[in-house]
Parts: sequence; C-alpha cells; structure tokens
Amino acid sequence: MAKHPKRNRAETVLVIGLGRFGTSVASSLVRMGHEVLGVDENLNRVQETADRLTHVLQADSTNPEALRQIGIADFKTAVIAIGSDIEASILTALAVIEAGVPTIWAKATNERHGKILKSIGVKNVVYPEARMGQMVAHILTGKMMDFVELDSDFAMVKTRAPAELVGLTLEQAQVRKHHGVSVVGIKRPGEVFTYAQPDTVVEQDDLLIVLGEIALVERFASGS
Ligand code: ATP
Repeated sequence: MAKHPKRNRAETVLVIGLGRFGTSVASSLVRMGHEVLGVDENLNRVQETADRLTHVLQADSTNPEALRQIGIADFKTAVIAIGSDIEASILTALAVIEAGVPTIWAKATNERHGKILKSIGVKNVVYPEARMGQMVAHILTGKMMDFVELDSDFAMVKTRAPAELVGLTLEQAQVRKHHGVSVVGIKRPGEVFTYAQPDTVVEQDDLLIVLGEIALVERFASGS
C-alpha cells in the first residue's frame, strides 16, 4: 500500500505503529521537516495517516521478512509505537535490532514492558501514559501550570511566583539557598518569558520557570 520513500532512507525516520502516540510522533517529525515512513498492519490506520506522513506502508512489523522488504537495514532511526500488544512490540523491537538499526525508540505501557524492551537492547524507552499521568497529577494538586520530569528526581516546572518573593530581586531572594531550586525564566502577565537575572525583580502574578529536585520544586510551588 501507498507511497514508498524515494529519498535517502538513512534520513527517513521509521515509525512503526500508527496509533495515537505513533501518529503524533510521526506528524511532529514531518512538521519539523523530516521524512517519515509510517508502518502499520492495519490498513485503515495507514489510509487515515497517508495524507499527513511522507510515506506510509501496510506491513506486519513482527515479520523480519516484511521489514527486510521495506529496506529496514538502511534506516538509522526507528520508533516502535506499539503499546497494547506487548508481544508485537517485543517481536518488532527484536527484528529492528537484528536488522542493525542504530537508534531505536520504543513506547512501553508499563514498567515490565519497558524492562523487557531494555533487556533486549532498546536503549530509549518512553512511557507516555505514565508521564502524562504524573504531569497532570502535579498540575492538578499543586500550583504548577506545567511540569516536565527531566530525570527520576529532577524536574522543570512553570509556577506562579511565591508571595514571599514579590518585591525582591532574585539575588535578594536567594532562592537557591533558601529553597534549593533555581529560577531560570520569568514572565510578566502579557509578556514573553525572559531569562532570569540576579537583578530581576519578582512581581505579583509573575510566572517562573524553576529547575530542581522534584520534592523541592513541589514545595517551592506550593508556597505560591
Ligand atoms: P496509542 O495510545 O498510541 O493509540 P496503543 O498502545 O493503544 O497506542 P496499539 O493499539 O497497541 O496502540 O498499537 C498502535 C498501532 O500499532 C496500531 O495502529 C496497531 O495497528 C499497530 N500494530 C500493532 N501490532 C502491529 C504489528 N505487528 N505490525 C504493525 N503494526 C502493528
């Protein structure tokens, strides 16, 4: 089915599984100017995404021969976006690894799924549902407007300036010393974010971008 990559495959990203996550990754890559080959065994999914992606193809990715026919060995980057069918995800990962694709990203639906993918050699495993759930929980319960976990205990958050900082410069407030976090960006209502400077005065309703250990940024945000 459909359009084959004609240009250099090494530059084309292979996205296997065109569910919500795979389609989102693939469409974002296309918007950023990359070539994408989207593969799915489900013909409807392939047809639905054909107008958004550079190339699409119907194939069962657990079948090494089907992957060989799409020229798998020529791709430098593959994203395996199969979640609910863990067996299909693992068999696909194995086939892609055996074909020698150097950079592989795979979505996992839970920790055990992720562990298996890592143990067979997938270096980049992502947990989109778990991440999104964690982010929403932080935003719902705290005073954060955004939460990005950078590591298991480190995060960057967007939060309203705590009342105790209002009227002080960041140097006077000594946020790092008193709260253990760093303010890296600041935004006045109606303005754009700028880099935080020592002489930046914090005003009421300012939004701050704060970096630090998760427990510390949570505590800092709850004081806002
Ligand atoms: P999302 O939340 O992103 O929709 P999901 O985990 O619900 O993800 P799945 O249904 O597991 O998504 O699979 C995503 C896509 O992968 C589906 O479109 C499905 O048809 C496709 N897929 C599953 N198994 C294979 C396979 N063996 N070969 C090719 N595509 C596959």
